[in-house]
Amino acid sequence: MIKYSLICDKAHEFESWFASSEAFDKQVKRGLVTCPQCNSAKVAKAIMAPRIARTDNVTRQATPEAPQEGAKPVALLDEKSVAMRAAMRELRQKIIENTDDVGKSFADEARKMHEGELPQRSIRGETTFDEARALIEDGIDVLPLPGLADERN
Ligand SMILES: [Zn+2]
Repeated sequence: MIKYSLICDKAHEFESWFASSEAFDKQVKRGLVTCPQCNSAKVAKAIMAPRIARTDNVTRQATPEAPQEGAKPVALLDEKSVAMRAAMRELRQKIIENTDDVGKSFADEARKMHEGELPQRSIRGETTFDEARALIEDGIDVLPLPGLADERN
């Protein structure tokens, strides 16, 4: 028995077993070997190697593949997003460099400065959402800095 890789006139590839190479030639001549996909009897031995010569490689690569198992969600940021993130990081760095860290007494300090009990200066620190909202309602300009707490740890 011989296994042949075969190809039809529509470039479908398939494999088939034959008793011998003579048996294959006879069966092809009599139209007994047909393509399982399109039933064409115009079949020939496919070139076994190299596999990269297969014409269907192009379409296969163009088809989006199903996510592989264990794949993690990822994001690809475009240039604008990357630039924005870099700008935010820079701004945050500038704020850190130009402010005094007053920690949890932020709301106290901010209010005292607002009321003139302390000289005006730029401070950063921690406060609750409610405290921050109260400061803003009193006309004290506070700016949330997401991510600052992360770097502290
Ligand atoms: Zn075919």
